[in-house]
Amino acid sequence: MNTKRVSKLVRELLLEIGEDPDRDGLKKTPERVAAAYRFLTAGYHTDIDSIVNGAVFEAAAHNMVIVRDVEIYSLCEHHMLPFFGKCHIGYITNNKVLGVSKLARIANGFARRLQIQERLTEQIAKAVRDTINAEGVGVVMECRHMCMMMRGVEKQNSVMTTSSVLGSFRSDPATRAEFNNLILRDASR
Ligand code: ZN
Repeated sequence: MNTKRVSKLVRELLLEIGEDPDRDGLKKTPERVAAAYRFLTAGYHTDIDSIVNGAVFEAAAHNMVIVRDVEIYSLCEHHMLPFFGKCHIGYITNNKVLGVSKLARIANGFARRLQIQERLTEQIAKAVRDTINAEGVGVVMECRHMCMMMRGVEKQNSVMTTSSVLGSFRSDPATRAEFNNLILRDASR
């Protein structure tokens, strides 16, 4: 990303919305916005393999692992406005487990791009499956979308829920039920 060019574009944008980009409060805004976008879209340059490198551990049993409340901050691809919330990730080990912090980093790697929630959910599920060859993966994501809250329908309280289930989470109703129960039980604490 060319920071200088993006700063110029933001300055143009400020003019178009009727602002004075030279007033004190806005003088450094184009550079700040450019830096913010560099961070918020860093996922385009994130290599998932190098994220998990060294954090895959051997595990003997085929157990279910659940990590709840992984924070999600992303930008919707339709309006480039934030959507944010939580995702819950479950998987069944196939002799390998992932370090917990790596799940959050995988989620960030895909969240820091222009996204729709449905695709983000699926990308996280597939990445978890592929990195540890999991027998099954389930991801549930609950997010609020600023493009709905601040504009258009102004539905301030609606939460969008998406899920992606792969492998045994898809084929085995008992596994899926266990996943759902673990998520719900924790949610009602
Ligand atoms: Zn949107």
